[in-house]
Amino acid sequence: MVTSIPLESDAAASPSCKLHPQSMCPAFGSLRILMRMEGSHPVMATDTGCLYGLTFISHFYGSRKSILAPQLGTAELLDGKVVEGTRAAIEQAAREPGCRLIPVISLCVAETAGLPEELLPQRVGDADVVLVRVPAFAIHSHAEAKDVAMEALLRRMGDRQAPREDRTVVIMGEIFPADQIAIDALVRQMGGDGTIALPGRSVDDLRRAGRAAAFAPLHPFYKGTIRLYREWNVPVAGGAPVGVSGSYAWIRALGALLGLDAERVARVAEQERERAQAVVAAQPLAGARILVTGYEGTELAYARMLVEAGAEVPYVSTSIGTDPLVLPDELWLRARGTREVVYRKALEEDVAALDRYPPDFVLGTTPFAAVAKDRGIPAMYFTNQVASRPFFLSGGLEAILGFIGGALRRGDTYRAMHAFFSE
Ligand code: SF4
Repeated sequence: MVTSIPLESDAAASPSCKLHPQSMCPAFGSLRILMRMEGSHPVMATDTGCLYGLTFISHFYGSRKSILAPQLGTAELLDGKVVEGTRAAIEQAAREPGCRLIPVISLCVAETAGLPEELLPQRVGDADVVLVRVPAFAIHSHAEAKDVAMEALLRRMGDRQAPREDRTVVIMGEIFPADQIAIDALVRQMGGDGTIALPGRSVDDLRRAGRAAAFAPLHPFYKGTIRLYREWNVPVAGGAPVGVSGSYAWIRALGALLGLDAERVARVAEQERERAQAVVAAQPLAGARILVTGYEGTELAYARMLVEAGAEVPYVSTSIGTDPLVLPDELWLRARGTREVVYRKALEEDVAALDRYPPDFVLGTTPFAAVAKDRGIPAMYFTNQVASRPFFLSGGLEAILGFIGGALRRGDTYRAMHAFFSE
């Protein structure tokens, strides 16, 4: 979905086709976080076609476990064997050593055929059985599928009986380990008791997350989980500790939500702002034009960081849908010169933007970065090279600006290679 059109009327007419898939199956997002939990043995209720496509996650991420699934071909689906087959797979999963959690991921086919929750067990042996409904065709992005999984797990596993941990906050997102350490240390410096980072590896963290005093989704697509915390009357911190102004505002907001000493929080926020300003001063991106495109759902936040460092970012695109959660970042960017923010983007839209705004550097999806490199433009893959680095607070700012500054300085090499191979 495009929420904005380019200011130039001819640019608005650029062709865009959304009839073919623009990313991998969105269920990848749910499956990935459910696979990596210790003691979790996912069962996938789906037909055999999806199973083959999605098992790559267990191999690629080295999770040292396989996905269990009933053998559901057309004949079994027509015979109504979805429930029977899924129950058998759950029994098998419960026999895995150390099994504590069996997420039953119900994908497009099972969702269409119907998988009534009341016909599944709630618990088998030592394991909780949690139905996670992932009609991937209706979720659209793997980022949003992570939210679907987290909401389902927390609804069932979040411990709401024990007393609230008054100064603990749940931080949610794909959080690099160094980021988690930095945010946790900062919260303690503010006077809090620390953080619970989700999605993570620990089933116990899921239970504790129900007792936390505040919820801080660090990425703007955890809307189902936000809805759940609001139902629980747990305050939600908006924004994220990204860049100079974003980090400052987040620290102040979180301190207020946790009821921490205002002076102490202000001091921590100010120190962090000074550190971030020093990073920007040491590694400015002034004069660089950068396009940011990805399917992680964090693209607007990255763009914001780059603009704060002095870069021009005329175009940002993402696979997630538009939502009030991303609106503050979009408005912030537009007020600072970003011309287009595209949601549910297509590769063709990104390529057309490359013509409209010839950049010095591209942060892009794999196919888009390849197009940019073909033209001799320095480009990095968003997922593999940027989203897998520290990002939050001044430490993340330093890591990202250093990385992008280095790539910009290699621009001549890209152009020389392009000229050499074009001859
Ligand atoms: S049918 Fe649905 S779950 Fe299966 S691969 Fe396609 S989008 Fe993914």
